[in-house]
Amino acid sequence: MIFDVMTLFPEMIEDYLSHSIMKRALSNDVFTVNTINPRDYTLNKHKKVDDTPYGGGAGMVLMAQPYVDAYESIKKLENSQTIMLSPQGKPLNDGMVNELATFDQLILMCGHYEGFDERIREIVKPREISIGDFVLTGGELPALCLIDAVSRKIEGTLGKIESADEDTFSNGLVEYPHYTKPREYRGLKVPDVLLNGNHKEINEYRLQQSIERTKIKRPDLYEKWSKTCD
Ligand code: SAM
Repeated sequence: MIFDVMTLFPEMIEDYLSHSIMKRALSNDVFTVNTINPRDYTLNKHKKVDDTPYGGGAGMVLMAQPYVDAYESIKKLENSQTIMLSPQGKPLNDGMVNELATFDQLILMCGHYEGFDERIREIVKPREISIGDFVLTGGELPALCLIDAVSRKIEGTLGKIESADEDTFSNGLVEYPHYTKPREYRGLKVPDVLLNGNHKEINEYRLQQSIERTKIKRPDLYEKWSKTCD
């Protein structure tokens, strides 16, 4: 899997990826992340990538030429998808993450300031994805959320000690509660069932906890899940 990230701030992407699980996966070549800076594709003397909006209004708009030229410079694989990070897009969820993990290449377009000149959308025709109904200052955090979530689904990213199999959403429910040492903390005890070594009982307890927690925390998910049990 190759992630090609179009961004005016490549350091933001590189910094995040230079820690912990992402760092290990990258150094093991499980996936690759390239950054492409539209500023390197400007044709003007001052390397300007934004300008004031026609029609007036606040903020600066990202100019079409540097973005389109930067996009066209990227070598496209056959099984590739181009994604514009945008609050106007479809909200990202676990189902989409699974689907995105089937591509060999994801080209991620990060906006900034007021966003993109509309002609970038018209020419590139990207799929638009949002990470939620709120507006951030730039597309770098959304791109990183997407890279992190998608790469967790690629074999080799998570080591033996981490697992995505039982994560929240994987079976339509939120995950059961976790405990680690000590057995008692501030009078709060680890449930006995987790200490008895009976895996059948532990699995039953965890499933029950998942169901109860989903009912309370995410009644929308619970309703969907309970229909699949009919
Ligand atoms: N004026 C734009 C609008 O109202 O649709 C918002 C521009 S936002 C300040 C700047 C950039 O941040 C966007 O182009 C996009 O790349 C990114 N961005 C902001 N919020 C986002 C979200 N919820 N999901 C994905 N990308 C987002």
